[in-house]
Amino acid sequence: MFIHRLKRYFQIIIFVSICFLIYSWYNNYQFSKQELKTSIINQIKNKEQALKNLVYTHYKIHVGFPIIISNELPSNLFGLTSYSKGEIKIYLNKKRFQESLDYMIDDVLPHEYAHAMIFKLKLFSKKKAGHSKEWQRVCKKLQGLRCERFVKNNDIVFGKTNF
Ligand SMILES: [Zn+2]
Repeated sequence: MFIHRLKRYFQIIIFVSICFLIYSWYNNYQFSKQELKTSIINQIKNKEQALKNLVYTHYKIHVGFPIIISNELPSNLFGLTSYSKGEIKIYLNKKRFQESLDYMIDDVLPHEYAHAMIFKLKLFSKKKAGHSKEWQRVCKKLQGLRCERFVKNNDIVFGKTNF
């Protein structure tokens, strides 16, 4: 019976889909519980060092900003830079390292580092923070891959954060 076979066929598809869904939930859950792999942490450290060197080349200052890998960032936010009483911190969204490792390292990190530098160099005002022309200039000097000025996400925070 054709209908019968069709029904069976769909049941199998549904069963396989559910298994796949459970498997990917489990994977995400495992990933969020674990520390990032040493190889990923090393990649972040290497990129950070490269960024520090670029800052020194262009601005002749030594900088170091805390880079916090956080599970608490909203998932649409890859990174964030906060400024509170002169203290500058960079947050990277841990959840995003699973499927977007290269993007996090080559794109998000220089992007946020440029925000941190704008705070460091005091090239901002409350009105003109975010993706200003000054930020774009710094972002390009840090060899960022996403230095367009009209990035939608609001990824800077004044004051304390809960991340
Ligand atoms: Zn930004």
